Amino acid sequence: MRKFMLAAAAALFATQSAAQAPRPPKLLVVISVDQFSADLWDEYRPQFTGGLARFEAGTTFHNGYQSHAATETCPGHSTILTGDHPATTGVIANNWVDQSVTRSDKSVYCAENEQAPGSSSISYKVSDQHLRVATLGDRMKAVWPTSRNVAVSGKDRAAVMMSGHHADQRWYWDGKQYVTDLAGVPVPRSVTLANAALQKVLAAPGEPLQPPPFCSGKAQPITVEGSGKVVGNGTLARAAGDAAGFRASPALDGSTLAVAAGLVQEMNLGRAATPDLLSISLSATDYVGHAYGPGGQEMCLQLLDLDREIGDFLAFLDRTGVDYQLVLTADHGGLDIPERLRLHGVSDAARVDPALGAAAMGKRIGQQLGLSGPVLIGEFTGDVYIDKALKPADRTRVLKEALAAYRAHPQVAAAYSREQVAKTPMPTGNPVQWTLLQRARASFDDQRSGDILVFLKPNITPIADTSRYVSTHGSPWDYDRRVPIAFWRKGQAPSEREDVVETTDIMPTLAAMIGLPLTPGSVDGHCLAAVAACQSR
Ligand SMILES: [Zn+2]
Repeated sequence: MRKFMLAAAAALFATQSAAQAPRPPKLLVVISVDQFSADLWDEYRPQFTGGLARFEAGTTFHNGYQSHAATETCPGHSTILTGDHPATTGVIANNWVDQSVTRSDKSVYCAENEQAPGSSSISYKVSDQHLRVATLGDRMKAVWPTSRNVAVSGKDRAAVMMSGHHADQRWYWDGKQYVTDLAGVPVPRSVTLANAALQKVLAAPGEPLQPPPFCSGKAQPITVEGSGKVVGNGTLARAAGDAAGFRASPALDGSTLAVAAGLVQEMNLGRAATPDLLSISLSATDYVGHAYGPGGQEMCLQLLDLDREIGDFLAFLDRTGVDYQLVLTADHGGLDIPERLRLHGVSDAARVDPALGAAAMGKRIGQQLGLSGPVLIGEFTGDVYIDKALKPADRTRVLKEALAAYRAHPQVAAAYSREQVAKTPMPTGNPVQWTLLQRARASFDDQRSGDILVFLKPNITPIADTSRYVSTHGSPWDYDRRVPIAFWRKGQAPSEREDVVETTDIMPTLAAMIGLPLTPGSVDGHCLAAVAACQSR
């Protein structure tokens, strides 16, 4: 009897533990689609039939948040696999101002080593040194030295922030080919072959994409203020050798996925005793968004092609037979161009007043206070720095004048001093309810952030000169903060979730899935119990 009881208890225990902690996946595949807002995802989900439709059979959160104010590529990617807000990762923007550097623009790039000889904010040496914390891949390798941490992207900063300090392979598009910053790492044959094949693709013209009815329904030509560019009805065609056109087309994402597939095959990812991580950041959606705005035919063509490209990549992964866990998210969302938003009834949509630029504002305040020098350094929104060369008393006068001038402007939602942001406690809980000050706090760093933090009102596009980009992101508003967070693994039951989650929750959730120890409370994010068997403590 006693023996039977023990056997029954053992069987029960075995069933329970199997149910609570399923076999860990062998390969984690984390895909970030740059500038893929949850608004776009919500709109296009019914149109997807390829790789992006895969998530319909998974667990989908359409209320995912990049919760912080500085919704740019580098901070956004720094949250995804660290579990931390930019205030903790230290990656507060794509570029910040460091007035101690010798270069004239004082601008430091998030993924560079500015101490490298001859580097500038434009021609920089790629580095992970600004990332203050460990990534999931770093943590996996610390526990399981044979685990592989691999990243591929259209942008260096995305690959660096997703893989961190201990990457085995890291490849990104430099405008001409896929390159790496990792010294002494053997170049995989698949990367050499992909680069050779890409030279031919680049040298040939890109044919116009044929819009299906859903896309041609969006083909309304719109003239952009300032530059007079016409956008809305483009086909993403490009001339032979047009590298910028290549970048703003699905061909960039297709090539990034081809490099990723080559690395999976050549490195046998997911086939060793310890789990591997493959991070992929697909950048073309962001370039298409900046070039045309996310509301026209161009973005429609991009997203439907991206769906096909990811579909091909997943079909390849399926054929390998590897048990992989798939994640989809984005580094930030985006806002459509004001010219089109107004046609759709968003009457407050506008381009920023050029007088709000930090240089223009600094010049005006300098004249007013009788000060020379730049006075203020920065752009239209986010971090604005007061010239360090000014005397402390003059800096105080500038701060007071600048705060008053920003706050009095009808396009400005708020302007905070760094002291105000610094003394705000780090926000927790539902990010939808965070105040603007709390959002600012989540991407504030005492050493790197500005002396003044400026936030424009919703639907104000911080681009006055439209000769290069027409549309952007970077605001503390939900169109830039809300992103998809979705999980899929073979055989799982579909689950569509309405609850609010954060991109910082992805890392602790994946850690729980693979049994990676994580001290509770050691990162900003939380394991998602809807997806993984989280530790109860
Ligand atoms: Zn962008």
